Amino acid sequence: MLQDKIYRATTLNDQFRIFAVESTHTVQRCRDLHDLSPLATLLIGRMISAAAMMSLDLKDKAQDLSLRIDGEGPLKGALVVINGKAELRGYAFEPKLFLTSVNDNFFPGKQLLPGTLTLIRSTGMKRPYTGLIELVTGDVAEDLSHYYAQSEQIPTAVNLGVLIDQEARVRASGGFIIQQLPQADPALADKLIENLNRTPNISDLMDMGMDLPKILEDFVLKGLEWQMHDNRPLVYKCNCSKERFANAIRLLGKEELLSMREGISPVCHYCNTSYIFSPGDIQEIIKDL
Ligand SMILES: [Zn+2]
Repeated sequence: MLQDKIYRATTLNDQFRIFAVESTHTVQRCRDLHDLSPLATLLIGRMISAAAMMSLDLKDKAQDLSLRIDGEGPLKGALVVINGKAELRGYAFEPKLFLTSVNDNFFPGKQLLPGTLTLIRSTGMKRPYTGLIELVTGDVAEDLSHYYAQSEQIPTAVNLGVLIDQEARVRASGGFIIQQLPQADPALADKLIENLNRTPNISDLMDMGMDLPKILEDFVLKGLEWQMHDNRPLVYKCNCSKERFANAIRLLGKEELLSMREGISPVCHYCNTSYIFSPGDIQEIIKDL
């Protein structure tokens, strides 16, 4: 599996829709960029899978969605942003949190609660769509299912898995979402639920060498007719540039800019690229105001 992918499928006469994702390389890239601890990797890894699948609902390539978790616990949370081209970026709020008791480093939810999950999706109109829920477990899958039930009234099953080794290297990361569409006969869900109860953890299956279509066929949708409609690559890609930073700096106003006359070197939260604004650059921006 050299390239991460997002999939869209339907089953049971299009009455249920399925999103699935392989995100191992994207999560590894995020881990490497930010030198994340296991806890931060597990949290943002699951959020990356979730956001990647949710991005399939974006109507336009230029639109984007942000998935954000804020917790009062020591892990604090993370933010993931993805656009309609499946270019994703993100960062953890407490990237290096490591706890002395080894076992505590594998349960991000416990280190977050209480907290909230927020989804912001651009709609093509001025005002974006925003949904917010209180975290249920902080382990993302259940929280997402609760989010869909509460904010969008869609019965949803979510399975997310991130498997990391001793050095916090990402061995496998992926997930799937199944949603019951409004016209669906709820009785049809029985077979699906039976399958879901028999599906092992998704990252364990991926670690055994299975890709998502195979996992869907052999476990999740076993014995059901289903159709794959779309698959597209998922990549970690930041959209920052010196120009974007210059625009942001411009907004600070003259007084603030005068205090930066010696030059500044802001760092992008999402990819750690640092941009140098020399005293000359700052003077140029002030002159333009
Ligand atoms: Zn960047």
